[in-house]
Amino acid sequence: MRSISIFGVTGSIGEQTVDLLRRAGGARAFRVVALTGGRNIARLAEIARDLQAEIAVCADPADLASLRNLLSGSGVASAAGPQAIAEAADRPADWVMSAIVGAAGLVPGFRALRHGRTLALANKESLVTAGPLLMAEADRHGARILPVDSEHSAIFQALAGEDITAVERIILTASGGALRDWPLEALAAATVKEALAHPNWAMGQRITIDSASMFNKALEVIETREYFGVTPDQIEVIIHPESLIHSMVGFRDGAIMAHMGAPDMRHSIGYALNWPERQELPVARLDLAQIATLTFRAPDLARYPALRLAREVMARRGLAGAAFNAAKEVALDHFLSGGIGFMDMSGIVEDTLTALDPEMGGSNLPEALEDVLGMDHLARDRAGEIARRRARITAQITARSR
Ligand code: NAD
Ligand code: MG
Repeated sequence: MRSISIFGVTGSIGEQTVDLLRRAGGARAFRVVALTGGRNIARLAEIARDLQAEIAVCADPADLASLRNLLSGSGVASAAGPQAIAEAADRPADWVMSAIVGAAGLVPGFRALRHGRTLALANKESLVTAGPLLMAEADRHGARILPVDSEHSAIFQALAGEDITAVERIILTASGGALRDWPLEALAAATVKEALAHPNWAMGQRITIDSASMFNKALEVIETREYFGVTPDQIEVIIHPESLIHSMVGFRDGAIMAHMGAPDMRHSIGYALNWPERQELPVARLDLAQIATLTFRAPDLARYPALRLAREVMARRGLAGAAFNAAKEVALDHFLSGGIGFMDMSGIVEDTLTALDPEMGGSNLPEALEDVLGMDHLARDRAGEIARRRARITAQITARSR
């Protein structure tokens, strides 16, 4: 029986992973080891009971007593806190899903690799902040990383049986997010609710806002470089509003391999779960005659400063990815809580990168995870200051215009 752990089981990717496990027989077909969640402990306990997990771990120690209560009599052990989540990754499991959102997913993924596990990686932040370290850790321990992000799963599948040196370009598709047809001048006033109305994909709240700002695509450009080892100028982004082509690989001979399918994350999760085989998956089949047309357009960089910033991050290298991701997370928090405008997010990230430039270690690659975590903390502090200053200015302007 295959043993499985899921980090971030109560999230969008986590729940879809659970759905696939259940359809494949659940606790009868898999030995479920560790399941971790954030604040939704009722749901964490429910899944842990259903899949008869060895242990359920929640993020906040203040929730431990309630979690224990919810699990009493189930035989599922419980624990809480970041340390306990990291330790859960030490429990032997053949296949580990890394689906915590944000930099909090970094340490458990690393710990799982250390034991030579197969890591299904949804947490793109791991590659953006610590790509070279993560790939080296996998090599060192003979572990395998399978991409779960739909674009990277598509590229991975298009590359099957190919030689990476024959690749000329990688073309990432982007839906353009909820605000893609808004006039540029209107974007500054976009609300959280408006940015959450994603046209094609149902995802977690944070990644949905990141789709509207294209910070998600910016992270994915960096993720592509780190995962596939191509150069930044080999990576292109194209807006493809239908989201049916999940990404493309262009080869030396001019051929382009495109991966198509319904926009359903269970495809890439299931591909990673069943790899190297393919098994039936509960995703809609495309009716091409019904679809009839696929459209593409170049992204406007004035609309999406995040794409320009991703290029700068790749040119800087060093700890720039860690600073970029942390500043983005802080800016997103401030947008979600209503203190700043939609376009302020990229401004905050850009100002943070400029402020921290001397701290980024030039083009030297990070040597240890501690360096990455150190930059993550520093960038969070700095981005917080910058965001609060922006929020004050925004509040003053609003007051004056009343
Ligand atoms: P989500 O917000 O729906 O779920 C995140 C999970 O992480 C939840 O279980 C939450 O409780 C847990 N969590 C949050 N903060 C935590 C913390 N500090 N410590 C421990 N656990 C914490 O997010 P999601 O949309 O499922 O995304 C998960 C990851 O997958 C992200 O890195 C995202 O970029 C990536 N991803 C998601 C999708 C998608 O369709 N949702 C697609 C591609 C990539
Ligand atoms: Mg994606």
